[in-house]
This record gives sequence, C-alpha cells and structure tokens, in this order.
Amino acid sequence: MLKNILLSLALLVTVAVSYSDSHSKKPSDSTPKKKLYILTSTNTLRSLSQEIAGALLKIESLTKGKQDPHYLSAKPSYMLKANKADLLIINGLDLEVGWLPNIIAGSKNPKIQKGKQGYLDTSDFITALSVPTTKVDRFFGDIHPFGNPHFLLDPIRAIQAVKAISNKLAELDPNNKTQYIKNQEMFEKKLLKKTTEWEQRIKKSGVKKIVSYHSSFEYFLDRFDLKLTGLIEEKPGIPPSSKHILHIVKKIKQEQSFCVLTASWYQTKWAKKLKQMANILVQPTAIEVGAVETATNYILLIEGIVQSIESCKAK
Ligand SMILES: [Zn+2]
Repeated sequence: MLKNILLSLALLVTVAVSYSDSHSKKPSDSTPKKKLYILTSTNTLRSLSQEIAGALLKIESLTKGKQDPHYLSAKPSYMLKANKADLLIINGLDLEVGWLPNIIAGSKNPKIQKGKQGYLDTSDFITALSVPTTKVDRFFGDIHPFGNPHFLLDPIRAIQAVKAISNKLAELDPNNKTQYIKNQEMFEKKLLKKTTEWEQRIKKSGVKKIVSYHSSFEYFLDRFDLKLTGLIEEKPGIPPSSKHILHIVKKIKQEQSFCVLTASWYQTKWAKKLKQMANILVQPTAIEVGAVETATNYILLIEGIVQSIESCKAK
C-alpha cells in the first residue's frame, strides 16, 4: 500500500515537472519545429507507423517485440512516455485492456484520452472476426468481448489500419500530408504484391489446416483460405490440461493436420508432449514485429509465418 502511494507521488511529481518543462519554453519562429511524438501499444503498430512516417516523426512502442501484448505491467516510465505523446495508436478490441487503460489514465495527458484527437484505435477501421453474440464473462478466460484482436496478421486488414494511421498523421501534421499519403500508397502496393505471392506459396505448400496455441492466426487463416483444426490452449490465456492435449492429438491424427504454429513467447511444455505422443514438431513463429531477429518489419513478419507453413510441408 505504502509502496503504491509512494509510486503515485513520485509519478505525480515527475509528470508535474515534465509538464512545466514542456510549457515553460515557448517555441519561437527560429526554433526548429519539434517532431511529433507517437506512441504505439504494440511493436507491429510502431513498425507500420514507421513505414508511413519515415524519419518525420519520433515513434516508440510500449511493448517490445518479444513481449506478449496481452500482458504488460503498467510501469510509471510508460506513463511518462504517454504523458509526452502527441498521438497514441492502439490495436484495440481489448488486446491491451489489461494494462493500457492504467497507462492512459496515469499519463495525465488530455490529448491521448479515448475519443480525443491524439487517440487512434486501429480496430475501428477493420471488420472483426469471432465477435461474440452473447455476453461474455472474463471468468472463461482472457476472452475479448468485441471479437478477435489479432487482425494485423491479415495483410489486407493491416492495409486498412495503415490507411487510418496515415490519415491521422496527415491530420496532426498537415505540412507532411503529401509524404504520408505517398508512403501509404507505396506500402499498400508492395504489400498487395507480397500477399499474392504468399497466397501462391501457401497453396503450393499443400497445407490446408493449422493447429495453433492461441487464436492468434484466425485472420491470417481466413485471408489465406486455411482451416483451424483446433487450439492447444484450453481456454484463452489458460494452458492446456493433459486431457485437452490428448483430445487435440486425437483431432490432429483424425484430420491429418500436422502443422502446429505458436507465438514465439508461449511456453512450450505441451510441445514436448505433442512430439512424444504424435511425433509432431511445433513451429514457434513471430506474431509481432521484433519477436524474433528476422521479423524486423511487417512484411518480414508475415514472410516468417508463410515460411513456417512451408516448412510444415517439408516434414
Ligand atoms: Zn489474443
């Protein structure tokens, strides 16, 4: 309790200092204009925003590529970053619900509060899958009550999110509007071309079904016409029991569906069991930019998933 009070006090003081810092100096015409500071909730959103902004803006992500964006502890340093942000870009659909609301509230930054000009929820611009039709209860696990939030693994939905980012950057920084639109169009063209190539390669691989740990790949599977055999986790956020693993192994054998993908950060005790019980090798795959060394940007992130599927075929 005392620790919490001290932490809050320290934060208040630091926020107050940074407020007075940024408000005491009035920029004159001769002062070079400060770059807008963009904060994103995930590293994939940072990377996508960077495609549009290039070096025109300073962009940082709250979660690092190797961190699971479902979970993050809301450190005071994150609130300080949020305090200075001109724009906060989030994934939405409750992906960050466990930690981001505390950071936004703790930032004391009126610009990035929900509904304000400096708040962009990219999920507002896409059609969600698996939107529950009945009221969901968090008792049943980490269920997202507005639908599956992992839409950025679908390149076409990523294009829609990038358009929304580009429009928002142009609105906040109209002097560079032409550049943002140009970058967005170039990125879209490149991504559409790659998507056609990925479609052909997945088709050629002969893989038609996937088993995955969490429902991370739902939009990816939907885009590339792949089916889901089943999920390894028992319920969202809850690791599988031995009984559930037995059930999945039975399904894998029945459906001859041997391509098992998992996000690189999930524990893989169950993977050893799959190897022992059915001689199935699990492909740990990046689902965030930066989750593995090779996934340095969005196109390489999706490329990595496509390569995982291609290597399923080789086994
Ligand atoms: Zn999830």
